[in-house]
Amino acid sequence: MDQRDDVIVIGAGLSGLAAATALLEAGVRSLTVLEAGPQVGGRTRTSTVGGTTVDEGATLVYPQHRHVLRLAQRFGVELFESGAQGRFLYYVGGTAHAFTLGRMGNARLLARPWMRPVLRGAWALLSRWVPLPMSAAAVTDLLGAVRQLDVLAASVPVERPWSAPRARELDRRTIGSWLDDVVPTGSARLFLESLLGYFPPTASLLFVLHFLNTWGGIGPLLAQPTGVLRFTHGAQELSLALADALGDRVVLNSPVDSIDQSAGRVRVYANGTEYQAEHVIIAVGPAGYRGIEFRPALPPARRRLQDGWQPVHGRKINAVYDKPFWRAAGLSGSALTDRDAAPGVLDASPPDGAVGVLACYTTDEDWPADAVADAPRRREEVLETFADLFGAEALHPLHFAEKRWADEPFHFGCEGGLSVGALTSARELLKTPVGRLHWAGVETADEWMGFMNGAVQAGQRAAQEVLASISPAG
Ligand SMILES: Cc1cc2nc3c(=O)[nH]c(=O)nc-3n(C[C@H](O)[C@H](O)[C@H](O)COP(=O)(O)OP(=O)(O)OC[C@H]3O[C@@H](n4cnc5c(N)ncnc54)[C@H](O)[C@@H]3O)c2cc1C
Repeated sequence: MDQRDDVIVIGAGLSGLAAATALLEAGVRSLTVLEAGPQVGGRTRTSTVGGTTVDEGATLVYPQHRHVLRLAQRFGVELFESGAQGRFLYYVGGTAHAFTLGRMGNARLLARPWMRPVLRGAWALLSRWVPLPMSAAAVTDLLGAVRQLDVLAASVPVERPWSAPRARELDRRTIGSWLDDVVPTGSARLFLESLLGYFPPTASLLFVLHFLNTWGGIGPLLAQPTGVLRFTHGAQELSLALADALGDRVVLNSPVDSIDQSAGRVRVYANGTEYQAEHVIIAVGPAGYRGIEFRPALPPARRRLQDGWQPVHGRKINAVYDKPFWRAAGLSGSALTDRDAAPGVLDASPPDGAVGVLACYTTDEDWPADAVADAPRRREEVLETFADLFGAEALHPLHFAEKRWADEPFHFGCEGGLSVGALTSARELLKTPVGRLHWAGVETADEWMGFMNGAVQAGQRAAQEVLASISPAG
């Protein structure tokens, strides 16, 4: 059997679904989305733990994440403000410091280009994070590092990072070695790493600067209004709503294993079925399409990017309690810690607060090798960290669930980064089309790479590329 379409989208994560939605809305009806797994949503997965809805992957949406917010609004998917009430905890060297985040005086100023390189990080830190319990020396280190990163990022052209002044030098350095030099130790390093926790320490500094440019530098991240947003019924709800509108165009359990664009239409093979289309959007991360055979082989530059992608394997932990007990103590449930077991903690309770949920994210890379395979030890260390933050009640959750994304078939890391030398030797971006193959997925985002927003933006951008080169069948 074969099937002919105008466009095939590979991967029904948020990016592939956003691409398909944009195509359908533009009049492309002959469209198939091939998803390897048994459900849509990819890294936005919602499940229930003891009857409570929890996110196993993505959770937080920032007020600046306009692509994801607009899409959610159009599809009637609700979000609510989360974690705005109560004190924030900063746990370092065995002591928990509680403080209230200040409101930014004029956050809009941070978006002004002239604010960017020198002033923005300082402005953001001083206006909002001033109660941060750090020594004056640590604050100076932190401000200096934020300023340096923003200045360097501003020197990197968004579309052509390899043409930055000193691009080769920046691409030879790892972000880890740069941090070792600029903020060697202590609370400033902890705080900065918590902001930059989206790529491995071995990622190229040039790639990290390119990545930060998709956020507009570090300033906008520091300039969060106090509230972040969460999906009322879990993050997967948006993907489910998009898939619902796409109907039987979404085909599950169809892992694509080869793509042939050697003659005429592109042929895509999944589960022994041949699909044909004028254009294909690949909305699978770079580590994922290493497993796909391309005919003809992908060009060498593209291979360098694909081979240079270093995935980071994460775990999402949700501990469910009979109530959000930390709120009675005036705490928001949000914390930054120097503990590898739970570097960042957030209140992931349902909007009605009927039960309490504390969630955290760690990576396999954060744990000693022997702990990676030791689930009881990890549980104990996570709960001990929660108890140090919020009291002994945290030691006894009703339910404890850990999602290890490395165990998932067809998922190839939660996040990641390009290795040293990849960008300057390839001299193209992961989003650069190859013939009739277009690339989506969060790793190709122009805005907020690493976030659901980036996935949506990348999908919509890939759809625009395709629309620019086809006449919709109508
Ligand atoms: C634990 C965790 C926490 C996170 N927290 C946040 C957060 O708080 N806020 C935020 O904004 N973002 C967060 N993220 C990031 C966010 O989830 C991702 O950036 C986003 O969901 C990526 O979407 P995507 O469509 O690009 O990729 P994916 O979601 O990975 O989708 C790719 C899809 O392709 C499918 N696929 C793979 N190979 C094939 C194949 N050969 N054939 C067909 N299909 C294939 C996969 O099954 C998958 O469904 C988090 C991610 C994780 C894992």
